[in-house]
Amino acid sequence: ATTNLLLLLLIPLASTATYRLILTAGLTLGPGSGLSLLKLSTDPEDINAASVDFGRLARSEPAAVFRAESAQEVAEVVRAGYGQGFAVSARGHGHSINGQAAPTVEGVVVELGRRGEEREMESGPSRPKVNVEREYVDVWGGELWVDVLRSTLEYGLAPKSWTDYLYLTVGGTLSNAGISGQAFNHGPQISNVYELDVVTGKGEMMRCSEEENSELFHAVLGGLGQFGIITRARIALEPAPQRDTRLVRWIRVLYSNFTAFTKDQEYLISLHEKPAKEKFDYVEGFVIVDDGLINNWRSSFFSPRNPVKISSLGANNNGGVLYCLEITKNYFDSSADSIDQDIEALLKKLEFIPSSVFTTDVSYVDFLDRVHKAELKLRSKGLWEVPHPWLNLFVPKSRIADFDEGVFKGILGNKKTSGPILIYPMNKRKWDNRTSVVTPDEDVFYLVALLRSALENGEKTQSLQYLIDHNQKILKFCKERKIAMKQYLPHYTTQHEWKDHFGDRWDQFYKMKMQFDPKHILATGQRIFKPMV
Ligand code: FAD
Repeated sequence: ATTNLLLLLLIPLASTATYRLILTAGLTLGPGSGLSLLKLSTDPEDINAASVDFGRLARSEPAAVFRAESAQEVAEVVRAGYGQGFAVSARGHGHSINGQAAPTVEGVVVELGRRGEEREMESGPSRPKVNVEREYVDVWGGELWVDVLRSTLEYGLAPKSWTDYLYLTVGGTLSNAGISGQAFNHGPQISNVYELDVVTGKGEMMRCSEEENSELFHAVLGGLGQFGIITRARIALEPAPQRDTRLVRWIRVLYSNFTAFTKDQEYLISLHEKPAKEKFDYVEGFVIVDDGLINNWRSSFFSPRNPVKISSLGANNNGGVLYCLEITKNYFDSSADSIDQDIEALLKKLEFIPSSVFTTDVSYVDFLDRVHKAELKLRSKGLWEVPHPWLNLFVPKSRIADFDEGVFKGILGNKKTSGPILIYPMNKRKWDNRTSVVTPDEDVFYLVALLRSALENGEKTQSLQYLIDHNQKILKFCKERKIAMKQYLPHYTTQHEWKDHFGDRWDQFYKMKMQFDPKHILATGQRIFKPMV
């Protein structure tokens, strides 16, 4: 009777399709299931928020939104979807680009992320639990990395591998890979996970690791949400520099010569087996193709009081393109005395433009959380919630010079880039090829990330259509020149393209899908499998 009453209350708020969905879910779950039907929200605000993502390129409305607080609740919703035939999409923080976290057919969004002020409250999903002795933390799948950091630092520990931006969820980045400048050393975030709790597409709750249900474990890591919803992850930790003191030396140096730039980047990542003293902790880089001041939204590293003019650094002799190597070294109070010598010894081996060394000391948290500062600035100017036609590619080392010629100096050369362009290499041996993510078939490959924002009232070169056309040109260039790149955070719309993306890994991917989500109800927004609903 209570269920029927709740349904009656919900009917006026819901469209016919939504009503059917709520009704079927309600009947499946039943009043004794422990799942309050009221948690299936059809509030227009909830629906609207779940219909768009950071990319703002696509809009797809779910029939209802379910805010999950436990693995049990997630399992109940998925079981209803499996039994009654509706799609279920996990949503972390909605920082996808092309609608990956929203269902493409009638379905429910299971929201795992905490909202705003709830991050400070004790209620809701369980909080991170640190095991100091064994150096790991158990976290809820919807936890933001910034909150994982906050919790582990209380114990002087921190995860080893990061993303550049920390307002992403653990389940969201582990469904892709999770990369930043530490990946050359520690591998992506998916290489730093000990164990997962997963709700499969049949609604089963399964624990998995290298030892237990290892097929599921590897499938889910980098699995684009196709095999299950991650409700808990056990993440490897290491001792961290202190929270508040300035213990990260952050350095940028410039190059006008691409060969010198990549040679140095590759040298620095080849030091990954060396003791900590003899390598950097973070190696990234970016390309500067537009004339102007060297800065970008990702950080205000170069002081506005001390602007650096590109033309003063020889870029004009190089098709207008400069390259910036970005490196950091963490230090502890105990190693503070030797940090200058350690860094000098490393820099001595590099061939950057001698007058172009920029150095600053920041706290560990300020460094890791650097992009959030830029976010706040952009938000205040109304420049955050705009379309983001981002393109992320893994380019094999053997073809990165061709990519430079054709894309940085060719397609992009000397035009306004409308956002940062990152480029940094990683060691393939730090990636586990049993996981679902696909990377180029070479020992070293580069991330090239074109992180551009479209402006409605800006110049033509900043318009969404212009940037989308640019992306198409870049993909076409790679195809024509047979550059065997792989998309990171991939976006395709046909299964044919997906098969091409996975190559000889497709059969395994498909087999795992049949095993763990046979009705194709999970993460339909990735557009890999046609949902059977
Ligand atoms: P969502 O966008 O909500 O979800 C992404 C996909 O994963 C969807 O298909 C969803 O259904 C699925 N999913 C979500 N949660 C779960 C779960 N618990 N279990 C199973 N599937 C789930 N990536 C990097 O690697 N490195 C970076 O430095 C980096 N920087 C970024 C900076 C910004 C400003 C932005 C917007 C993105 C960045 N990303 C980066 C990309 C980011 O990793 C992806 O967007 C990723 O999807 C995480 O976002 P999310 O947690 O909001 O997941």
